[in-house]
Amino acid sequence: MDNRHAAGLRPRPKLHTGAVPAGLAPDAVPKRPVPAPRPSVMQAPVLVLNATFEPINVTAVRRALVLMLKGVAQAEETSHHEVHSTSRAVQVPSVIRLLSYRHIPQQSRALSRKNILLRDRNTCQFCGSVFPASDLTLDHVLPRSRGGRSSWENLVACCYTCNNRKGDRTPEEAGIKLQRRPRPFTLHTSRQLMRLIGHRDEKWRKYLFY
Ligand SMILES: [Zn+2]
Repeated sequence: MDNRHAAGLRPRPKLHTGAVPAGLAPDAVPKRPVPAPRPSVMQAPVLVLNATFEPINVTAVRRALVLMLKGVAQAEETSHHEVHSTSRAVQVPSVIRLLSYRHIPQQSRALSRKNILLRDRNTCQFCGSVFPASDLTLDHVLPRSRGGRSSWENLVACCYTCNNRKGDRTPEEAGIKLQRRPRPFTLHTSRQLMRLIGHRDEKWRKYLFY
């Protein structure tokens, strides 16, 4: 058997000719004093308003700038930061407004693990502690074995300790109490979250009415 031929059939490791994407194999990247492109500014939250000034979403500065460059949105409020392109400096937006009206369905949030954790703000609904998403599970308040459904009203964020303690029982049987009654993700929930995200930005207030 020709060993050289066999070796040639083996998939060869890909050679990196260009830059290694950020976040991939950081150890393989030679350490150079490259200034970071101020990721905190580009990822800062921006309030998105509909054409009618109704708050509809929160996005990141990076995405907001793209919407502005595309002519889809314009800045209503700006922060004191600037970003520089080759030709000009742009004030970083704090609030943007869509230039044409977008219809937002009343219940647009899908029932998903991500959205349940978002609604419950990564807080275990039994012990009230905040956890990273990886340390939370979803608990059926009325267990599935008792006919409990997978619904907004019956699913809550739950830490593993509380989940184990509760087991296949109702909160009453397990002697633990729900922090609050789980509700569907409504417009009200969205507003609450927007206020929470924007609590440090004075310029959001007049659009969120608080
Ligand atoms: Zn807990």
